[in-house]
Parts: sequence; structure tokens; C-alpha cells
Amino acid sequence: MHEGSAAGPADDGMRDKCGVVGVALEERGAARPCYYGLYALQHRGQESAGIVTHDGFQQHDHVKMGLVGEAFTEDDLDGLQGENGVGHVRYPTAGSVDKACAQPFTVSFRSGSLALSHNGNLVNAGEIREELAGEGHAFTSDGDTEVIAHDLARNLLDADLVRAVKRTMDRIHGSYALTVMHDETVIGIRDPQGNRPLCLGKVDDGYVLASESAAIDTLGGELIRDVKPGELVLLEPDGSGYESYQLIEQENTAHCFFEHVYFARPDSVIDDELVYDTRRGLGARLWEESGVESDVVMPVPDSGRAFATGYAEAATEELGDDAPEFAEGLMKNRYVGRTFIMPTQDQREQAVRLKLNPIRSTVEGKTVTLIDDSIVRGTTSTQLVSLLEDAGAAEVHLRIGAPEIVAPCYMGIDMASREELIAAGQDTDDIREVVGGDSLSYLSVDGVAEVLGESRADLCLGCVTGEYPYEIDGETTDRDVSRPEIEGAVADD
Ligand code: SF4
Repeated sequence: MHEGSAAGPADDGMRDKCGVVGVALEERGAARPCYYGLYALQHRGQESAGIVTHDGFQQHDHVKMGLVGEAFTEDDLDGLQGENGVGHVRYPTAGSVDKACAQPFTVSFRSGSLALSHNGNLVNAGEIREELAGEGHAFTSDGDTEVIAHDLARNLLDADLVRAVKRTMDRIHGSYALTVMHDETVIGIRDPQGNRPLCLGKVDDGYVLASESAAIDTLGGELIRDVKPGELVLLEPDGSGYESYQLIEQENTAHCFFEHVYFARPDSVIDDELVYDTRRGLGARLWEESGVESDVVMPVPDSGRAFATGYAEAATEELGDDAPEFAEGLMKNRYVGRTFIMPTQDQREQAVRLKLNPIRSTVEGKTVTLIDDSIVRGTTSTQLVSLLEDAGAAEVHLRIGAPEIVAPCYMGIDMASREELIAAGQDTDDIREVVGGDSLSYLSVDGVAEVLGESRADLCLGCVTGEYPYEIDGETTDRDVSRPEIEGAVADD
């Protein structure tokens, strides 16, 4: 259930940790476009928001805890002078709700200034940090973005921007989509396996980099393309154009399949495909794999809607008039906000009833197929099944548009731990016993890859297979990868 922006600690979901933007404009200030771009990416992080601009002489920054709308006043935006800027929204991992980790991260050094916005997670940040600390670099946060910033600042002392980025990319291992501003030059960088999304767009008077194309749409711009894995895109500071440098080529990508399933906005385009259409395709595949005849097909709002639409369309194509009817039988309370804190399990269960209410007349006496995008801990699904049963459903069949989540994410998604994941160590029958209802099916891993039109070797499927596309301590990998050797480093235990 996609609740990244809805329910705070009471929810059952997982969250993308960050959204990034970068803009370079001809004559217009960068602050407001960054602000609107971040607004469009609010679903990717609700804990802090920040913008750093450069006016040709100096940086201006404003970084604050809270939602984008709360973090900036008109005066704050007026103070962010300059036509170039980067911005960030963040959702930190549990326990590090801390302004020191809010971004963009800024650093000034002998040959200039840097501001970095990072979406992703490095798996060898500890090793690089040890080495840099040994050279006298002082760190102010425990975040890996600061590690990238210091490494890049060091490389910039004796190399131009493109070479310095290449050197840093040769050392860091993990997922990253970065917008970086070096003095007034804004660049976008995507890790060599393209794990996290980053795209490039054109507005009337300049260029934009953003985690998702919905941010470019919000600025009235046009999507040009995704930034390629291993590519650096440099925006001309006067907004006149951009340059591309393919710094690292790798045979396989490791796109996060969950971006398509869960994180990205349905109106964003990733890999030339509208996310809404991909989700409809996944729903259709779900019907092919595990369709069940029932009276009604019902989405969990809003996360299951596109999946349920595709599922119902595929059912109608096959069964004609005998297909189940598509119906919205669960109504969402849109005013349950993120300050809604319910720490105990009992209260957590109550939360679902506050958020969703079944329409009895749509459910009573019917066999219902309930469709959602994923199950994380299972709390929400369990509650939804009993809500429908309490409302008089004759049968409840649960269909999930992604495979079982069996392992955590190390690539920048704030997900439950292995112990909390309902599918870790349990098969589908065991899970159905816990969740309730009459049947439960997940989409297959191959089904996901086929609908996305990518081979399994080009996707990150770590959380549903337990095999990761990066070398991670204590975990197995599904490909031939190795972490870069960090000279003089002391490996993390
Ligand atoms: S482990 Fe899962 S959530 Fe994390 S990057 Fe891979 S596919 Fe995405």
C-alpha cells in the first residue's frame, strides 16, 4: 500500500528516501522553479526540503525540516538569488531525523563551492569516509552524501569538474542519482547501473534535471530523456544548452523495478513508458497469472488503482460480460495527514479504519478481488481484508501487483527490516493464513520483468529475490560485481 505521504509512523509501507532537482536558466531566478519541482516530488520525501542557488559570485541556501510548503516562505525564496540551483526533498532512515542530514549538502573549499542533492545509498561510504578522515577531512553528518561531497571536493583540487566526477564515480559503489552544483554549474549524475531515476528536460529559458518527469511537467517543460546510467549531464550556466559525458559504461543496468510499481508518480515517464501504463500492464499480467472469477474487482486507493484497471480490462477481454465489475468500494479519507502518530500495534490497526471506509452496498454479499501494489509488513492488508469481510463480502481474494518482498533494500529505500517483512521466510499460504481472505496471489518476478520489457539482468530485484546488483556485506549478489578497493581504508565490520 503506497502511503509514503499519508500516514507517517502508522503506515505499513516503504518510502523512497529522496527526490532531486537541478535547474539552469537564462535570466530567471532558479529558486521558484526548484521549489515547484520539489513540490512535484514531495511524494519522494517529506522530512526536509532544501534549495541552494548560485548567483555567479556566491551560494545561497535554505534547508529546513518539513514539507516543501512549510519549509519556504516568499522571503526565503527571494533570498535565493541566481539563475542556477539544486534542490532536494528527503525522507531519512529511522533514527536520523536530523537537520545535519538534510540536503542539499554544501561545502566550500579552496577552489570553489559545492552543493549536492543525492537520491540513493552508497554501500562503501564507510570505507571512503575512513580514508578521507585519515587525510584530515572533518565530517558533520553520518550521511553518505557528505562522503561524496568531500571526495569530489578533494578531486576538484587538481582536476576539472568532469574528471573529478569520474574519479569519484570510480570510487563510490552503490546507487546514486545526484544533482550537483559546482560554483554556478549544475550537473546531473546517475550511477553506472542506473538504479535510481534521473531525467533531463527543457523549459522555455533553460534546462532541468529531476528525479521524475512529473517535476518537468510541473514547470511547463518537456522531457528530453532519462539521464543514462554512468552519464554526467552538464547544464550550461546561462541556460543555453547541455553537454553529455558518458563516464562509465556497464554491460547491465540495475533499474529499481519498484520505481515502476510503487515509488514514482503514475504521471511520470520512466524509460519512455508512462508509469500509469506500466502499472496497468502489471495488472493485466496479474489477471493472466492468477485471475480469479469474482463479482467485483476493487483497488486499494490510490496505490492499487492502475493495477486494478489493467486487471479488470484483461478480465473483460477474456470473459466479456462475465468479467467482474470494476468498482471503487473503499473510500479514502484524504485528510489523514503525516502528523498522525500511532505507535502501538493496536493503534496501527485502527489507523486503517481512519484512512479507508468500505462502501457496504458495493461489497455486501459479493465475491471481491482486492488489488494492491505490494505487501510489506502485512498490517494494512490484514485490516483491509477484515474491513471487507465486516462489510459483508462473501469472499475476498487478494491480488498483488509485485512479487513477495523477502529482503530489505540497501539502495536508498526506507523499508522494513527482514524480521518485519511478512514474506521473509514465509510462503504465500503462510501469508494468506496471517492476512486472511479466501486466496492470495502475487505477481511473479518474471512477469514483472516481461511487463517492464527488461531482462532480469538489467533490473534490481534485490528485495524480492534476496540477490542484489551490488556487492553488499553479508548478502549475495546476482551478478559479477566487486566494490572498488579504497586505498588505506578500514573496511566496516
Ligand atoms: S532492493 Fe528493491 S526497492 Fe531497493 S533498489 Fe532494488 S528493487 Fe528497488
